[in-house]
Amino acid sequence: MEVTNKYVAIKAQVDGAPEESDFEFKTELISLTVKPGSKDIIIKNLYVSIDPYQVNRMKTLSDSQKTSEFAVGIKPGEVRSILNDVLYALKVVIDAYGVGKVVASGNQEFEKGDYVVGLISWGEYSISKGVILSKLDPMGLPFGLTAYAGLFEICKPKKGEKVFVSAASGSVGNLVGQYAKLFGCYVVGCAGSPKKVKLLKEKLGFDEAFNYKEETDLNLALQRSEFYARLTVEWSCFFLRYFPEGIDIYFDNVGAGMLEAAILNMNLKGRVAVCGVISEYTDTGKRAAPDMLNIIYKRISIQGFLAGDYMSLFPEFASMTIDHVRTGKMHVLEDVSIGLETVPSAFVGLFHGYNVGKRIVQVSED
Ligand code: NAP
Repeated sequence: MEVTNKYVAIKAQVDGAPEESDFEFKTELISLTVKPGSKDIIIKNLYVSIDPYQVNRMKTLSDSQKTSEFAVGIKPGEVRSILNDVLYALKVVIDAYGVGKVVASGNQEFEKGDYVVGLISWGEYSISKGVILSKLDPMGLPFGLTAYAGLFEICKPKKGEKVFVSAASGSVGNLVGQYAKLFGCYVVGCAGSPKKVKLLKEKLGFDEAFNYKEETDLNLALQRSEFYARLTVEWSCFFLRYFPEGIDIYFDNVGAGMLEAAILNMNLKGRVAVCGVISEYTDTGKRAAPDMLNIIYKRISIQGFLAGDYMSLFPEFASMTIDHVRTGKMHVLEDVSIGLETVPSAFVGLFHGYNVGKRIVQVSED
């Protein structure tokens, strides 16, 4: 049987901030049966992840596109169903992390009815070769490895250390803050609205949080100051800055000025995990220029990382997180909209701070 598969495509390469008008919906005919000898897995998509990094794939050119299978450039184009394989390979169809249900399978590891998690696509159906695809654990939990690996493997926190997280109410940031807090660190997050700041402090247990859009000087906001450090707790509230004793760990989700300000306020042997630089993705004029003398003399480590390199940590990540969620120590923040039609607005919204927590689109009901 053949069905019409509706999917999201870009009209042209997206080289600035994405807008909804950059996207269009296209259709292709796909067969819901697998040809004899084929190892294809046909998946009905249930939930798809909406992630900022996709914008780097949509650019005409980005160095990131050459680095991994996840990052390969997306192309505008036409799908003709007989050329499915070629068009999937050319990335006209936008592959993305998500959860789906197997409709038909020529791959012996998957069978009809299996719930799967991994690389599917921004569409109603996906045709997978089984690469980066696994059966969904009955406990669910496909998201969060980035925060876990970045904090524990890259930053290696010690109890009592001072941790700063940017885009702290977002998908990765909120989990980093919650893990760090549960681990015994002092945690400050920044986010882009008073409502988000309130959420971080009152629901997620951050020690402090601030709205970076209200700060005229990010360096002053984070300031490490001997003067402030000597103030009593009572007095310090009149001069409130967030890191009077300096930053030991900075988990960077935004780059540019925030990274520069964090570096100026790091302690000796501080660690910076560069997870993402969203403020630089859509603005070619913005590039962090951190103070190199600080990096040298304070022996600061700065490391970029990709979550995909840490799949081996999935079992320990899952067991710790499920435990914390079950006991109510951790909150899961999901921002779900319904229908494939909401993919463009959900994606564009990431760059305006419209999401709180993990942005997901429910494409269809089970
Ligand atoms: P997210 O934080 O849920 O959503 C993006 C958030 O970024 C927005 O809600 C917004 O929050 C903030 N933002 C947008 N534009 C900004 C700007 N110009 N300056 C400062 N903040 C801005 O997204 P996510 O999925 O958790 O991703 C966070 C970062 O991690 C991204 O840079 C992403 O590319 C990266 N990432 C990396 C990996 C990896 O393996 N290395 C994996 C996943 C994600 P506000 O309201 O606070 O501004």
